[in-house]
Amino acid sequence: MQVFKFGGTSVGSPERMRQVMDIINDGQGKIIVLSAVSGTTNKLVELSAAIKHGQYHRAAQKLDQLKREYEIFIEELLEGKEARQRASGIVQRSWAVMAQLLNAPFFEADEKNVLAQGELISTQLFQLLLEEQEIPAVLLPALDFMRIDENGEPEMNFIRENLIPLLEEHPQDSYFITQGYICRNAQGAVDNLKRGGSDYTATLIGAAIHASEIQIWTDIDGLHNNDPRVVHQTFPVRKVSYREAAELAYFGAKILHPTCVIPAEQENTPIRLKNTFEPAAPGTLISAESSGRKITAIAAKGDITAIRIRSGRMLNAYGFLRKVFEIFEAYKTPIDMITTSEVSVSLTIDDDTNLEKILADLKTFGEVAIDRDQAIICIVGDGLNRQTGHTKAIFAALEQIPLRMVSYGGSLNNISILLNEDHKKEALQALHQFLFNGVEARVTI
Ligand code: ASP
Ligand code: MG
Repeated sequence: MQVFKFGGTSVGSPERMRQVMDIINDGQGKIIVLSAVSGTTNKLVELSAAIKHGQYHRAAQKLDQLKREYEIFIEELLEGKEARQRASGIVQRSWAVMAQLLNAPFFEADEKNVLAQGELISTQLFQLLLEEQEIPAVLLPALDFMRIDENGEPEMNFIRENLIPLLEEHPQDSYFITQGYICRNAQGAVDNLKRGGSDYTATLIGAAIHASEIQIWTDIDGLHNNDPRVVHQTFPVRKVSYREAAELAYFGAKILHPTCVIPAEQENTPIRLKNTFEPAAPGTLISAESSGRKITAIAAKGDITAIRIRSGRMLNAYGFLRKVFEIFEAYKTPIDMITTSEVSVSLTIDDDTNLEKILADLKTFGEVAIDRDQAIICIVGDGLNRQTGHTKAIFAALEQIPLRMVSYGGSLNNISILLNEDHKKEALQALHQFLFNGVEARVTI
């Protein structure tokens, strides 16, 4: 059994949905995980914000507008009158859920319910499309098996124990459709796996059923060796290890949800990134096997804040870093990069929601300084500890750019460099030139 996941753009129009139907209909058993139609989740986020702020009129307008878009979608997707009526019924039911929230106090749980409607609709419409084309497929409600615990972590045993019996109820069927992104939380309420979470749904399912492969279908031909929006002549890397992919996904290569590689790695289930616009292209294979390249790819993550704490108390002392980390823990703020000297420590955060409180607490230790608008440039390779030659190229490339932090050796796959966001583009381009000039797109080793 395989898992195929299609993102928002892959189901973004009736034409594209029909293409997905052609891709999945190869007679082989698979679970098909779908995102919401592209743009829908963003619109539902806006809708929730409007309700939350008491802008009921605006919210009602947004709801109306989205409904009209779905009416057109249905007309183009389905041919038969009855199928169209059933599709309208699906949209109506979702709308009834949301319209009900317009005039009442709006809670976080309500917002989660609103956000879930995108995937609930896309999967049902897709099933109707298959049914009209006489392709039998079973709809598996993700809310019946996908669950997270109090810390927002997926509950693998629960997922496995509830998903497998659902599949076993349909021994004759080959195609199973389910919603990406949505789940239930520890209280049993509707929740989600955070934005972009459909990838995570796919790898969790893949790991739970020991799938032979997880295919993630997007609108790009695999994981590129640099950001194609900034650098010309990037190329897709054909194979990378789980570790390499995880670093890249976390540090900015927008193609994958950052934590989705973990379940696949745990069960050693390969992930293949495929392009819906070019189904025959090989894409990128993520598995235990590494890229076989010295330097695999470069990615960047912007909007980073760097914090430096300087304290005489750090000198020859133990327990200092623990106290610093406890502050970040108390405000549930993850730290991305860290470097230390004898009397100071610098670290970076992405989420600055609680920055002021964090700074106030840190000031009890000593001098605190911050730099906003920083970017982390992440250079990913294979077994960097065994390699030589690349550091010279990296520093030569960045010679004209002031570097705020450098982190080497945290993992064997990653070198991270922090610099001002204004230099991000230039850094990516220069590194590309120094690290990939003359490097073949195909794997040569
Ligand atoms: N629809 C959700 C989002 O836009 C989940 C996903 O597409 O992965 O974030
Ligand atoms: Mg995505």
